[in-house]
Amino acid sequence: MEKILVSACLLGLSTRYDGKSVPCDAVIKLSDRYTLIPYCPEIYGGLPTPRTPSERVGKKVVMKDGRDVTENYNEGAEGALELCRMLGIRRAVLKSKSPSCGSGLIYDGSFSGTLVKGAGVTAELLLSSGIEVFSEDGLSELDGGDNNEGCIDN
Ligand code: SF4
Repeated sequence: MEKILVSACLLGLSTRYDGKSVPCDAVIKLSDRYTLIPYCPEIYGGLPTPRTPSERVGKKVVMKDGRDVTENYNEGAEGALELCRMLGIRRAVLKSKSPSCGSGLIYDGSFSGTLVKGAGVTAELLLSSGIEVFSEDGLSELDGGDNNEGCIDN
């Protein structure tokens, strides 16, 4: 079976900044068709769970309390790319809106809940390296339309 990289929190692992997960049935169901490889770039990059939330501000990533965590995010992104290369992974399903995993829309760095066009650090690196990135809201190309409702926002 084709291997697909998946944000660990979407598979039910408690890797989020708030110490929770956001399991998505439509993503978990992909295991019928693919070998799912869970990965959390922020944990790999050395950040604890729970942790203070972060947002992208240009090329930097900062925590809500002002700490610069760009290095942690970059390390997490490099780890994802290394894993994809090691395992021959060409496609990924990454959690929407995250400063690491988001693709299409991310928070704008003001911690006000405002979304702007853009991608998280890991999604951006994978995309620029030729790896296709999907979010949990747009799985129809992967599941043949079986679960095209994706997951509600969480
Ligand atoms: S970095 Fe990605 S995998 Fe890790 S908790 Fe955030 S959204 Fe989930």
